[in-house]
Amino acid sequence: MGLLVDVRDVSKVYNPGENEVRALDHVTVSIEEGEYVAIIGQSGSGKSTLMNILGCLDVPTEGEYFLHGNNVMELDDDELSDIRNKEIGFIFQGFNLIANLTALENVELPLIYRGVKKAKREELAELALEKVGLGNRMDHKPSEMSGGQQQRVAIARAIAQAPPVILADEPTGNLDTHSTQDVMEILERLHEEGHTVILITHNNEIASRADRLIQIRDGCIESDVGRRKGEEVESDTVSTQGEDLEGDATSREYENEGEGTRDDEE
Ligand code: ADP
Ligand code: MG
Repeated sequence: MGLLVDVRDVSKVYNPGENEVRALDHVTVSIEEGEYVAIIGQSGSGKSTLMNILGCLDVPTEGEYFLHGNNVMELDDDELSDIRNKEIGFIFQGFNLIANLTALENVELPLIYRGVKKAKREELAELALEKVGLGNRMDHKPSEMSGGQQQRVAIARAIAQAPPVILADEPTGNLDTHSTQDVMEILERLHEEGHTVILITHNNEIASRADRLIQIRDGCIESDVGRRKGEEVESDTVSTQGEDLEGDATSREYENEGEGTRDDEE
């Protein structure tokens, strides 16, 4: 197992100057290949900012980030897009499916951008949809599916090319309990199959299913508890255990993921 994510003293400042927001404040964290990590924190604590940096959707203001040994700060836009496509499958709270495309076409879309030929594309998309239990819904459009099914399509889209890393930002935030279970089971299965799963959530119950819990507050890592593969847990208590961390469910969550955070735009 090698080092996958190596974040060194990273800060992210939005709107530098008078109204600046220090969304991340000297964060250092590393994640090994094959880990199942939850990043938990209140709304506004910097989770999505961290996810955007981990996923090479944004770059730090200060500090260094190495993904699989690549110094992300030294890559140009094309190289960043390349590393995203190869390494990472993104899952967002809002599904981000294209309304007038079928499930199959939605899953195929990023493969088109990656230059995968039609026959191979269909094969990969079908396999991915079968994997998330939607083999019988391939011709359905998003409006003909439940939220849980739509999120499973989004997962299929994320995993179609078997990226080593799954980055999921509040993947169950818009789902009912039943669909939440389905999605969590799929993520757990992906982890068992060898994917590195990084799950971002404000919900402690969801987060506690991961092997390792990183708690973020006001842009800083407050605690990092759990085991790497093969290690025993020494302590699995965090100060907020049992609470739902979502203080104010604002529309900000939706605003943040709207622009610039889609991997199917390229
Ligand atoms: P979380 O995902 O934990 O809710 P975010 O990473 O979205 O937190 O936000 C962290 C802080 O950065 C918040 O104060 C938020 O308002 C601010 N922020 C996030 N994105 C932007 C942006 N594009 N421009 C300015 N401020 C932002
Ligand atoms: Mg967020």
